[in-house]
Amino acid sequence: MLTGHHLIAGQWVAGQDTFASSPATGDSFSFAVGTPAHVDAAARAAEAAFPIYGALPREARAQFLEEIAAQIDARGDAITAHGSAETGLPDARLVGERGRTTGQLRLFAAHIHKDGFLDLRQDAALPDRAPLPRPDIRMIQQPIGPIAVFGASNFPLAFSVMGGDSASALAAGCPVVVKGHSAHPATSEIVAQAVLAAIEELGLPKGVFSLVQDGRRDVGEALVQHPLINAVGFTGSLTGGRALFNLCAARPSPIPFFGELGSVNPMFILTQALAARGAVIATGWAGSLTMGAGQFCTNPGVGVVVDGPKVDGFIASLIAALEPVLPQTMLTDGIADAYRAGAARMAHAGARPVLERPAEGRRASPYVYQVTGAEWLANAHLAEEVFGPLALLIRAKDTAEMLQIAHALQGQLTCTLHLDAGDTAQAQSLMPVLSRKAGRVLANGFPTGVEVCDAMVHGGPYPASTNFGATSVGSLSIRRWLRPVSYQNMPPELLPEALRSL
Ligand code: NAP
Repeated sequence: MLTGHHLIAGQWVAGQDTFASSPATGDSFSFAVGTPAHVDAAARAAEAAFPIYGALPREARAQFLEEIAAQIDARGDAITAHGSAETGLPDARLVGERGRTTGQLRLFAAHIHKDGFLDLRQDAALPDRAPLPRPDIRMIQQPIGPIAVFGASNFPLAFSVMGGDSASALAAGCPVVVKGHSAHPATSEIVAQAVLAAIEELGLPKGVFSLVQDGRRDVGEALVQHPLINAVGFTGSLTGGRALFNLCAARPSPIPFFGELGSVNPMFILTQALAARGAVIATGWAGSLTMGAGQFCTNPGVGVVVDGPKVDGFIASLIAALEPVLPQTMLTDGIADAYRAGAARMAHAGARPVLERPAEGRRASPYVYQVTGAEWLANAHLAEEVFGPLALLIRAKDTAEMLQIAHALQGQLTCTLHLDAGDTAQAQSLMPVLSRKAGRVLANGFPTGVEVCDAMVHGGPYPASTNFGATSVGSLSIRRWLRPVSYQNMPPELLPEALRSL
């Protein structure tokens, strides 16, 4: 069932070198190592496909997205088996994530049927306007051409080969070249098989989608620097993302890099809510923190409280909820090592342990640390993300210091308020700050579990994302791969079809 090859323009292509997958359970398989030559072939094929694919009626692109979803579902059992073995995530998570992946393909298919996503505009001609007549000007959003996508390690389906970045690019009319993540090459290949089946079923140009399996760093570098690539979608580490972002900016012709690089997703637990429902909030935090071994970009890694008599009880409830959590398997050995190194960094920066339980190899146990507000404000290392189930509780001395902490935050994907009616004034002072810091602000909830919908923003100021005007989840994510073009006094037969009948 697995070829172990790259998929380039409809062909399964071997490589000179191979690498062995490192599944959490089960057999390892051999996969071709990608090279810059594979990237070049894929990018050229994508460019060749673009004039045809980008010009297809929206209905045909929607049909393609729906067919990909059906082909993924048809391979559901194999995807779950390989995905679970490769990542260590439970079967139920893989099944749920597949539903999200096919759901977003179908959402985007429905969305592009509506004219709204093209943002059509017209300023009708005013031939008699004085002192100068106005020409007829019409605007439309147009696809930008081939896109590079980096599969993320922590969502082997929903942010990987046919995850949100790829699906939104195809919805926009842009061919896609994916660099697969080495953590789940078998899952990647099966999803690529599904996409190829959809391409063949509908007779689309083969270059509309290619998958280059993991390679050395030169594959990612070649991909973002390839002159035929027009933009990049990325989810991963701050270090890796920043390196690739810099390469995009340094190109002779720079291109946008839509990277999602990290967030600690702070939760502000306000005084009345803490007093009335501290134990419930602590239990909810423990559940959100340890879901998927904490390997979510929206994992709530930081809680901020105003210190007082209720805080020790809150911590006791948090520990009581976390103590029964058994060590969980992480996505890769490297991510597990990085998690432990991150915890050591916290301790080195002065955070005091509240809960530290041993876990070895690829496993992680939850850690809880605490600091005062003054300590957190004085040490920038305490604001860094530790990817995994690590919680840092910041005990501010008063409301003013809590506000100071909010001001000092870096850009976040989410900020959360836990509040009761008596907390309104405190919340009102925080809101203007939090809405400048985050892409999504929540009340009385937990940030994990990102709804895929029209109003979702999964992004935020740097380093949450490299482009605060965009989202990588929801139908607005399609906008990343479009460019506005104005047509002035254009004869109707030369206009894009959607602009003719305005
Ligand atoms: P990563 O190391 O950033 O790698 C992501 C992708 O980018 C991989 O395909 C990687 O290729 C490539 N890459 C990274 N640095 C590169 C460079 N300098 N030049 C060219 N290509 C480069 O992320 P990861 O492997 O998913 O996990 C490692 C860490 O990322 C985690 O410990 C966590 O801190 C973070 N992470 C964050 C999120 C988030 O939601 N923001 C999600 C997942 C992971 P290679 O595999 O060939 O290196």
